[in-house]
Amino acid sequence: MKQINVILPLPLNGEFTYAVPDGLADKAKPGCRVLVPLGKSRRYVGIVASAPSQEEGVQIGEEDAKTEKKRIELKEILSVLDGNPVLLSQQMRLWNWIADYYMSPVGDVMKAALPSGLKQVEGFRPKTERFLMLAPQYRDVQTLRVLLDTLKRATKQQAVLTAYLQLCGVDKDAEVPMSGHAEDVPSAADSADTDANQSCGMSGNLSAEIGYDTLLNASHSTVAAIRSLMDKGVFLSVNREVGRINDGGKACPGNIKPLSEAQADAYNQILVQMMNHPVTLLHGVTSSGKTEIYIHLIQKTIDEHRQVLYLVPEIALTVQLTERLKRVFGNRLGIYHSRYSDAERVEIWQRQLSGHPYDVILGARSAVFLPFQRLGLVVIDEEHETSFKQQDPAPRYHARSAAIVLAQMYGARTLLGTATPSAESYHNARQGKYGLVGLDRRYQDIRLPEIEVVDIKDLRRRKMMSGPFSPRLLAAVRASLERGEQAILFQNRRGFAPMTECPVCGWVPKCPNCDVSLTHHRNAGVMSCHYCGYATNVPEQCPNCDSREIRGRGYGTEKIEDAIRSLLPEARVARMDLDTTRTRNAYGQLIGDFASGRTNLLIGTQMISKGLDFDKVSVVGILDADSMLNYPDFRAYEHAFTMMSQVSGRAGRKGRQGLVILQTKSPGLPVVSQIVHNDYEGFYHDLLTERRDFHYPPFYRLTYVYLKHRDDNTVNSAGLELGSRLREIFGTRVLGPDKPAVARVKTLCIRKIMLKLESGLDYALARQYLRGALADMLKDRRYGALQVYFDVDPL
Ligand code: ADP
Ligand code: ZN
Ligand code: ZN
Repeated sequence: MKQINVILPLPLNGEFTYAVPDGLADKAKPGCRVLVPLGKSRRYVGIVASAPSQEEGVQIGEEDAKTEKKRIELKEILSVLDGNPVLLSQQMRLWNWIADYYMSPVGDVMKAALPSGLKQVEGFRPKTERFLMLAPQYRDVQTLRVLLDTLKRATKQQAVLTAYLQLCGVDKDAEVPMSGHAEDVPSAADSADTDANQSCGMSGNLSAEIGYDTLLNASHSTVAAIRSLMDKGVFLSVNREVGRINDGGKACPGNIKPLSEAQADAYNQILVQMMNHPVTLLHGVTSSGKTEIYIHLIQKTIDEHRQVLYLVPEIALTVQLTERLKRVFGNRLGIYHSRYSDAERVEIWQRQLSGHPYDVILGARSAVFLPFQRLGLVVIDEEHETSFKQQDPAPRYHARSAAIVLAQMYGARTLLGTATPSAESYHNARQGKYGLVGLDRRYQDIRLPEIEVVDIKDLRRRKMMSGPFSPRLLAAVRASLERGEQAILFQNRRGFAPMTECPVCGWVPKCPNCDVSLTHHRNAGVMSCHYCGYATNVPEQCPNCDSREIRGRGYGTEKIEDAIRSLLPEARVARMDLDTTRTRNAYGQLIGDFASGRTNLLIGTQMISKGLDFDKVSVVGILDADSMLNYPDFRAYEHAFTMMSQVSGRAGRKGRQGLVILQTKSPGLPVVSQIVHNDYEGFYHDLLTERRDFHYPPFYRLTYVYLKHRDDNTVNSAGLELGSRLREIFGTRVLGPDKPAVARVKTLCIRKIMLKLESGLDYALARQYLRGALADMLKDRRYGALQVYFDVDPL
């Protein structure tokens, strides 16, 4: 019997081998889904892998996987679920690349890649609606007249029939049926254009299918009346598949905006760079019109009959972009991200495999997994954004890297765009590995905002602060609102008070599951943990000393909102953070309200820094630069520079320079002055010097190894042991194990080992050694419950 390898959505390494019954042998093609048994009673939907089995080096839980493999080798697949593959060969290769490079089980990649409807045993159900049509024997006017006559007393049924005829465009009183085309009948247009118009030579429209609900509404009749007509055999009922995705309307290339001279110049340079670079970086200041340039490139690509993948870091951005892109690309544009229902995502997936796939897909991270038949261009906007990297769960992949790999498989070009390139991408561009194009003029030469630094340490000492606001910031915001303009306040912490404390004894409410203090969320009336979601009541009294003075310290966005409402009662305030954007339409609502001026003061976390484009914002306040600058991570300055430059970029409008008030206790830091002067080059130079000296990316590649266990002693000894095993192989490239800043999360104690590999090393070999060392260690029974995973190129 033929054997195949199957990928299952399980966190296990490698593929599973099954036998294929002869009857299914031709059907079980690579990329098709198969239903397979596993263990005693479980059944899974798996994907037929492309290549026959090969031993894949030594892997985690090697022994277990092997025994399991032997045991199931004899089992047969139960059925093949697809006539054609749901995964094209490029998608399969991408899965394998991610599994290998990020050292995650391919089953975890499958879990991340496929919408649930494609990987569940029950599976995806197409949406259907009921349609009604006349039984063939009634499809002539004479018969219908007789029928209507017999229904004289059944007025409800008569109403249904009359409404049906009207919806079909048939005048029952005319000598000859009105000749209308199906297209003239809106409610029937979807279904009547195929097999209608062919019956009994009388009138095509008499065979039209009319939606059940449409008919019910139009007739003002009852369900019972329709039922009776069906029972009499007058109407036949059919279920038709209908799409869940709204139609985007006709594409309108005429709506593409002509490029300014500077933009056209950048556009041409991009085309030149793309001729000999697979990846090109567009370094364009905020509001320089990068999006307009992308639109021109997208149109050019689809004119060449190739597809485009347009990735943005945040779902919020798809909301604003959708309108802009729909105006041009209409129904050639598909949108794909995790806020869409699973069924909708399955529809888009299947459409990508069909004979008329979307030409342009706009999406967040997970869109990189969609099938493409002829990908020609990948655009990665705001390429510096860390949300392109998946943190938890595995696979911990970077969508920018994955998209570049994907593009290369198709021979497609990749364009990275940003005002603040990541150190890695800029380095690649400077080294000549990527093409580089600069655009340093804003559209219509609107000036970059003036950034004013306010020393809040000094103001605090002189008791001149109103809570988190300096007098300068308050005055600027007030003036802006009075002029009918808008303001944004940026604070990168959500909740009310990040820290709560008893001033008498110093007691701090902590999460029982994690090593962190709880954040006070006043609107929700809880103290909650941002790591595990644990929530508890707000303490009124200290459990330690009974003091009732318990106080919140620090400012989350909720408290900022509270404070500004009392200081500027006339402001129309909105808040945008994780807590206010949990529902599908919340982003759109918040952005729409601000764009239309319904609200005029927007408070938000980093979410507001991501490329949103509003044209009436004249003032931006950065409330607490220090929380970003003091973050204990080698990327702190990079993130701080990026975030503050981006959020500043929201300020400025036609004819008037925007103003940014940057509040900090360390106004003298070089990075602060680099932000003020929009000095990316200077910043990048300092950053690279430091990175080179301290052996960090882009000169070294990092891999973190995380070990987790309930018992701190066990994780400690496991960490030490793995550390010394790795040192035998990698020497001083290994650092740790260390306790990370938050050393216990969700009841698991954590250790972290850092591996720094210089460029030029054979990384594939290094990964093999890493897996090997880990597998050896895990043979030890003491480590049975130990969780170990890798974070490759961590952010
Ligand atoms: P970026 O992506 O670089 O931040 P955008 O493409 O969002 O910049 O452009 C900023 C604003 O300027 C948008 O409102 C955009 O519509 C407008 N704009 C940019 N270029 C043009 C152009 N060539 N014609 C008309 N409007 C433009
Ligand atoms: Zn106390
Ligand atoms: Zn917790």
